[in-house]
Amino acid sequence: MFTELGCGITIADCGWQSNHHEIYISNYRLAGARICIGYSDEPNCALPRDRFQQIGAAIVMHAPFSSKLPNVGTTIFTVMSQLADDCEAINLSQGFPSFDPPAALIDRMEHYLRTGANQYAPMPGVPGLRQAIADKISTLQRRSVDVDTEITVCTGATEGLFSAIQAIVRAGDEVIVFDPAYDSYEPAITLAGGRTRHIPLTISDDGFDFRIDWQRLQDNLNDKTRLVIVNFPHNPTGAILGADDLQQLAETLRNSPAYLLSDEVYEHIVFDGEPHRSLLSHEELWEKSLVVSSFGKTFHATGWKIGFCTAPATLSAEFRKVHQFTTFAVNTPAQHAIADFLQSNPEFYAQLPDFYARRRDYFCQLLETSKFRLKPTRSTFFQILDYGDISDETDVILAKRWTREIGVASIPLSVFCEDSFTGTRLRFCFAKDEATLADAAQRLSQL
Ligand code: PMP
Ligand code: GLN
Repeated sequence: MFTELGCGITIADCGWQSNHHEIYISNYRLAGARICIGYSDEPNCALPRDRFQQIGAAIVMHAPFSSKLPNVGTTIFTVMSQLADDCEAINLSQGFPSFDPPAALIDRMEHYLRTGANQYAPMPGVPGLRQAIADKISTLQRRSVDVDTEITVCTGATEGLFSAIQAIVRAGDEVIVFDPAYDSYEPAITLAGGRTRHIPLTISDDGFDFRIDWQRLQDNLNDKTRLVIVNFPHNPTGAILGADDLQQLAETLRNSPAYLLSDEVYEHIVFDGEPHRSLLSHEELWEKSLVVSSFGKTFHATGWKIGFCTAPATLSAEFRKVHQFTTFAVNTPAQHAIADFLQSNPEFYAQLPDFYARRRDYFCQLLETSKFRLKPTRSTFFQILDYGDISDETDVILAKRWTREIGVASIPLSVFCEDSFTGTRLRFCFAKDEATLADAAQRLSQL
């Protein structure tokens, strides 16, 4: 029916454009015609001018869909990985290792798959895994947490962060994040009806060290501040909390009603002999914190999507109210397998700093003669490279162009910021085998 009408006036001429709508004439839907306006790979839909004039008054359009997340597109990780695939580029954008989880962990997974651990796990997580997590926290952070009421296993850190934000943030509340901020925080805050306040991390004179500006945090706190989200070890800059930062955080928030959400997914990837200073290790911070972590980075298993949230019992109870309706329970055999592996192979995560420091150093050395400016990262498996001496293009355009033209994909930092204060910096994932890193470094060195 629609094509029979042929071309003439486009719907845009009615002064109304959008992507997908249905058109009704009187009470008759136009033969299911879905019309597409301003959508690049679809032709404009059209009505002949005389036909439009005859029926114009009778045209009723559905209102454009009112999105709950109007400013959200597809995540940069999906966009860049897809582009890397399309261009057959080396993918140093999305953060995932090019190596498998340890064989002993895979063996345990296989064991549980074959021995009946295939039905729903308990909602908070299998007891053995919660116990193993509690033991690890006790050893590393000197905090004794209650296995039954203070640890909840979740579907990766992503679900943990989302559930925590839904549980804590109410309509009209304000939430503080520090830019560059991981991309999943703000959409979750928006969906909870909250407002995100972005505070940029301060940058050192050499452009590579990022820190919280305590005065600025203080200045942004008010009686609407419900939550402050911190992420150390920090993605994408590799910043870590220094010895006095936990105390500064405690003092700054002492008279505020705000809770803390701490994203610590890179807790086991901190370099140069520095410890990971978890919010769990600080008495005053622990009382108001939900700490979210993940086994994805720790066990080279980002596809398993097993994370956990540790919080005092009252906060954990609120967290579980949301978690039970977000996902209910988490992959059973993987939970059992990780529980066994954590207990029997603690040396695995203990050697991760050395394991990744070798890759970081290898990648950085290969780039020594390139035109990029860099400082070896202090944590995570991401290295920031400053391309200011090579190009003055924006980071988003350049990340895409270099994916297509030199075959190396990276992540532009500006997408993590409200203001693009981060300048000429790209993030490269070095959780790859040496041959891949050498190939990438060689291409980058030609620039
Ligand atoms: N937070 C940060 C800072 C991350 O880099 C990631 C990606 N690992 C996540 C959260 C999400 O973790 P997961 O893959 O376990 O959902
Ligand atoms: N955390 C990963 C990164 O920073 C991406 C995870 C994702 O793709 N959502 O690269």
